[in-house]
This record gives sequence, structure tokens and C-alpha cells, in this order.
Amino acid sequence: MWRTNIQILGTEITRGSSHFLEMEVAKLHTRNHISVPVIVERAKKDGPVMLILGGVHGDETNGVAIVRDIIRKKLNKPEKGTVICIPVLNAFGYLNQDRKFPDGRDLNRMFPGSPKGSLAAQFAYSFMQEIAPQIDYALDYHTGGAARENFPNVRFTPGDNIHETLAKVFDAPFILESKNIKKSLRDALDALGVPTLVFEGGKALHLDKKMIKIGVQGAQNVMCHLGMFQAEAKDKTKSIHITKSKWIRAGHAGLFESQVENGSFVRKKEKIGRISDPYGLFEKSIKAPFDCYVFGLNTSPIINKGDALFHVSVELAASSKEQ
Ligand SMILES: [Zn+2]
Repeated sequence: MWRTNIQILGTEITRGSSHFLEMEVAKLHTRNHISVPVIVERAKKDGPVMLILGGVHGDETNGVAIVRDIIRKKLNKPEKGTVICIPVLNAFGYLNQDRKFPDGRDLNRMFPGSPKGSLAAQFAYSFMQEIAPQIDYALDYHTGGAARENFPNVRFTPGDNIHETLAKVFDAPFILESKNIKKSLRDALDALGVPTLVFEGGKALHLDKKMIKIGVQGAQNVMCHLGMFQAEAKDKTKSIHITKSKWIRAGHAGLFESQVENGSFVRKKEKIGRISDPYGLFEKSIKAPFDCYVFGLNTSPIINKGDALFHVSVELAASSKEQ
């Protein structure tokens, strides 16, 4: 049975109601208040409560645009259950176009937070008090870091059938088994028994139509699967299921050029990139250490020795056939 009483930020969410709520974050040193919009839509019929959020990292704009498009397409108005959309959780970072909170913390390493900790810890704490206890499932939309481009993938906690089923239903090109990062939002929600998928697509401070489309379709697929919409989930691509992955790191410093497309399959010893100096005196090829899919790429033209360059699959689930 689904919960019948839903209360968010002190507001009772009755059946068939819509709300544009504000979650107070803090006062700035200018005395301006910062609050985070929380958009809630509850159907007349009971069903799961789904949280859809973006902008945990303030510079990850694809995630923000995905939640915006979910609202635009009215996919946040379910036939059954409730959808809570938070397009920009880290409003501070978003204002500054920066990954972090103004206290320099990564919000995604601060959960479940504390009422007397740093600004980010206090914010994480109030999210865990006000929002987290009211939800049944969560979709957390991210992109890659500043110079890292992620081919669209969904990360989920291994060893749990619900997580795995939802990750498959989402239907991103890749699904990736990854243990929870300690003190991440996913870690804190999983501890409450809320299955949470993390989507990664594209890179920070970019808007990529393809990534946005996959992210929106994924939310629709998951909500259809959970019975929140009557339509059937579209399952077209059949995700490649990666059970183990690693980063291939730079053996040298220099100018870096990738020679593979993100998302492609490469054979062992295939040339996948090169590192050179500016003088035409030094050039080294980077070769694939084994057969693998490349699903994360460093897009920085200048790299240091040891920098992560290619995120690749090490092992695939039996259901994912290699090319
Ligand atoms: Zn992120």
C-alpha cells in the first residue's frame, strides 16, 4: 500500500493538488535569502512518491535541463502517485556556475548532514528531514565533471533486484554497477530504503540535447514501469550492463587527443589516444589494455601524468554481448 498522508515543507499534499514550495537554504552575507523551489504534483489516485532532482552539483546543467523538460512535458503530473521535482538542489553552486557549495564543500559528500555542521551539512540535514522521509524512489541527474564527458549511463547499487530492474527499465546506453559513495545523497537515501538511480550524461556547463532526451525518456520509462503512467515503458536500446569499470590514466604529461568516440567499443591494443609535447619531439600512443567499452572521456587538451583519461568497462554482465 502506498502512503496516503504526504507532508512536504510543512504543507499537506492532498490528492489532486499542485504546489510550488520553497525550501529555505540560508541567508547570504548580503541578507538576501536563498531558497530552493520544490515542485510537487499529486494525482487523485494513490501510488509511489518519486523524487526527481538535478543540480546537486551546481555546474551540471544537463541534469537541471532534464528536470526542466520533465516539467515542461508534464511528466511530473502522474496518473497515480506523486512527483516531486527539484531542478536545482544546489542553488548556491548554480548561481556561481560551480560544482560546490559556497563553503567549499561538495554537497554530495555531506549527507545525511547535521543541524550544526557546515552550511552544506545543514542543508543536507534539512533535505533529509523535510523531503527524504516522504519519498519511495529517486532519480538523481548528474553530468560529468568539468573536463570529463560521460556517455549516458545509469549507476545503481549492485545486489538489489529493484535497483537493477529500475536501471534496466531506464534504458540508458550503459548501466553501471557502482557501490554508493559514502555520504552521497544516493548512500543516504538507500539507507532509508529509497531505491535511487544516478544518471550521468555529458559534461559540466554544457547543454546536450541527446543527453537531455535520454534523461527525460528514462524518467518516463521508470514511472511507467512503476504504474504512475499507463503507457508502457519504451525499451529500445537494451543497455550494456557494466559490472566493473576503471579509469585508464595518463602515463605522461602533455597535449592529449582521444582517438575514439565516447561510447564506442575498442579491442585490446587498439590505439585510443595520443599524448605529445608542443615541440614535435615527443609522442606516445595510448592503447586499449583489453577489449572494452569507453563510456567516459577526459576532454582537457592538456593533461598531467596520472590524470584519468578513459573510463572503460572491465567486466560486463552475461546479458550484455560484446560486439
Ligand atoms: Zn554530479
